[in-house]
Amino acid sequence: MVKHPPGPSSAKKAPRKQPKKKARDPQATPAMQQWSRFKKQHPDCVLLFRMGDFYELFNEDAVHVSKLLGLTLTQRSEGVPMAGVPAHALEAYLRRLVEHGQRVAICDQIQDPRDAKGVVDRAVTRLVTPGTLVDETLLDEAACNHVAAFILDPEPAVAIAELSTGRFQVAAQPELALLDVLVAMGPSELLYEDTLEEPPEIARRCAELTGCALTSRPAWSFAQSDARERLESHFGVNTLEGFGLSKGDIELSPAGGLLRYLQETQACDDQNSPSRLSHLQPPQRINDGTGLHIDAISIRSLEIERTLRSGQVDGSLLAALQSCTTPMGKRLFRQWLCFPLGDVETIESRQDIVQVFFDDRALANSLSKQIAPIQDVARIVGRIATRRATPRDLVALGQSISRLDGLIGPLDAAPALAPFQERLEKLSDQLRPLSRDIVEACVDSPPPHLRDGGLFRTGIDAALDEARTLQTDASGWLANYQASLIEETSIPSLKVGYNKVFGYYIEVTHLHTSNVPDHFSRKQTLKNAERYITPELKEFEEKILHAKTLSVEREQTLFEDFCHRAQDAAASISDFAVLVSEIDVLLCFAENAVAYKHVRPKISKEPVLSIEGGRHPVLDRMLRDGFVPNDTELGGAADLNSPPLGLITGPNMAGKSTYIRQVALLVLLAHTGSFIPAEKATIGLTDRIFTRIGASDELHAGASTFMVEMTETANILHHATDRSLVILDEIGRGTSTLDGLSLAWAITESLASIGCRTLFATHYHELTTLADTHANIKNLHVTVREWGDQIVFLHRVEPGRTDRSYGIHVARIAGVPKETLQRASELLDSLAVEHSSALPDRPNNDNEQLSLFASSTEHPAMQELRDLQLDTMTPMAAFDLLRKINSDINNTPPPSV
Ligand code: ADP
Repeated sequence: MVKHPPGPSSAKKAPRKQPKKKARDPQATPAMQQWSRFKKQHPDCVLLFRMGDFYELFNEDAVHVSKLLGLTLTQRSEGVPMAGVPAHALEAYLRRLVEHGQRVAICDQIQDPRDAKGVVDRAVTRLVTPGTLVDETLLDEAACNHVAAFILDPEPAVAIAELSTGRFQVAAQPELALLDVLVAMGPSELLYEDTLEEPPEIARRCAELTGCALTSRPAWSFAQSDARERLESHFGVNTLEGFGLSKGDIELSPAGGLLRYLQETQACDDQNSPSRLSHLQPPQRINDGTGLHIDAISIRSLEIERTLRSGQVDGSLLAALQSCTTPMGKRLFRQWLCFPLGDVETIESRQDIVQVFFDDRALANSLSKQIAPIQDVARIVGRIATRRATPRDLVALGQSISRLDGLIGPLDAAPALAPFQERLEKLSDQLRPLSRDIVEACVDSPPPHLRDGGLFRTGIDAALDEARTLQTDASGWLANYQASLIEETSIPSLKVGYNKVFGYYIEVTHLHTSNVPDHFSRKQTLKNAERYITPELKEFEEKILHAKTLSVEREQTLFEDFCHRAQDAAASISDFAVLVSEIDVLLCFAENAVAYKHVRPKISKEPVLSIEGGRHPVLDRMLRDGFVPNDTELGGAADLNSPPLGLITGPNMAGKSTYIRQVALLVLLAHTGSFIPAEKATIGLTDRIFTRIGASDELHAGASTFMVEMTETANILHHATDRSLVILDEIGRGTSTLDGLSLAWAITESLASIGCRTLFATHYHELTTLADTHANIKNLHVTVREWGDQIVFLHRVEPGRTDRSYGIHVARIAGVPKETLQRASELLDSLAVEHSSALPDRPNNDNEQLSLFASSTEHPAMQELRDLQLDTMTPMAAFDLLRKINSDINNTPPPSV
């Protein structure tokens, strides 16, 4: 996949400025007229216009692209700016153009120039956009290249396709969750309706978080009725009910709009060209609410598939854990991390297989060996359908699916593997003959291009053999011919030769030219020799050239036959790819478990979380034995002996953030079926993971830190359930201490009342008193050891609160000057005295809502005043009471009367 750096700059690419200089006269030649016509049809694309061995760019495209890629800018006649790229290097230039966010229209010659009367016919045969790439060289094998489309009206829905493999998915989602699905999918290109001038908020946010390119599309292309008909006609069905899509389903709109876009980019203007989308699979619904939902911000802030700072895969959870051998496995691994499961049975069935691979290493190794050479058949199917397959693709396909039997055998080993075995066996009827025929017909090391010839073995096709024999016999014929000419002319140095420019020739040195017979016609004069041709040699040359063309044409036909067969088997090949990728990921889970001491977590339907010796999956590998494992106990049995909400205090750098992220990552991993880095774990099914982590401020361009905190917190409070996991880091930092503390306090109470499993790392030590009044809140702290005036971070999380934040110690480690530290210590002492007097009293009644600030506590005198029975009171009694209240307030004994 082409990666764009995340950030606002990667949002909608600004429309290219039209150069001031206008084409002087695009009508000048018929070719330029053609160019203008195509350019008008694709105004938002750079037009690569095939002329002979080059793709040329003209006018504004030439000026723009020459600057972008450093091409030489020249001028065609009449001052039209021009730049060109060699046709054989097209893919390399395409990659660079797409990396620069350009859309490219490729205009090819669709007629043999020899047959053209006048200008050769041309057509735009391909539109290249970031989301519709299929060429191997333009794609990252480990990342899906998705193009997505969404609508918001009348209800939000999204469709996502992967042209390189044909996967097509749809989802109807509330507006907020739409962004979550998009970010989890990580599209390269996102289509939106052009009814709004600016890209809508969701599109902008998606571009910020994933770096996708944005493309606006006419709103009518998403119309329901057109969408349904388009989908029905494409899949050749009368109704979409069979795919689980009913008339009127909202997902049809984005699906139809997306299909239309794919049709436009793939079939283009070449109306005679049959569909290049035959491999597109019927749309499947995703994210039906049954899985563990991770929102867009959490995917980024937990650094699941890329890091926050660099936006790169390196350093992420994915990079740490993924070591699959096949490209398909690599892509599925990411998918499983971003869409974890939500039901015990499916999670356990994956775990059962990992367990088999964990226990039986010989079996795992033998399966690994079988799948290692399997190439990216999912994408080969896509290239065959889009007619960009090469001889190497065909051979790779044949060799890869011939591994089927090698896979089926070892899967006998355990009942847990039986479903794989059955699914593979079902495919074998169709795939076995196909792979056998390809392997038998094709050479093991095929040429890169069909035009080079040599893909098919000798003996598999009589016509091909005949054409080839003609060519191989040529050398014998030439030797004989040369000998007969030498004899005829008595010129011993006469040679018959061949070169690419002049073809076959007879070469005679100047010394002997007087002996040359009349039927030799002069072809070329060299310094020492003359070159001739004879009618006989000419005839031979034509026959040979014809034989070469014949054999290439024959190979082309055979190649296309195989491609058609592969296309007919596309569904089975895609299924094979899915099975291989699943085995690959599960083998990888087992491999991680062996190499990094992961254990199988027990998955419980209760909302519990019990981890012994848990480790952060990424840091654990980086620090090796230096990482300190920690336990986690949240929620559980109805008696709440393990409160679901933990408040974590401790100095900066103690390991609070690491710990809460670690817990979130372990819960996520457990829901993928993976084993986890811990000694023992029970993970309760979780419906959502929410995070509010400081680092995610970076993910909201333009919003204030406090606004970001509150938006994310609002989302959590609205959507968290008693099955959710919430991790919070430092709420309330972005406002004044009292505001922040009050909010943190109230938010903690709200979360406690929801009952979701929560870990809240905070600097507000005042919050720890909540544990005294709420049975479902507990205190945790990260331990440090004092050593003289130094502190040592132990990174161990233990029950109970901490009273000191050691900020000044951390400042010392960070190199703050001594005098500043000294002054800070003095201030701390005096502030601590004042602050303690402002703290709320510890309440002694559990049922009483704790008052946070002394000033907000009602004085008992107020109640006394309220209770007064003025009608029955004597003035004297009223006066006595007044005196008592006065003394109570002043805390002095009542003055004696
Ligand atoms: P805090 O959130 O308390 O400021 P962090 O979680 O950012 O602290 O941790 C600070 C550093 O301490 C981390 O970068 C990591 O190197 C180290 N660390 C954290 N947890 C552990 C642990 N359990 N074992 C070893 N090192 C740890």
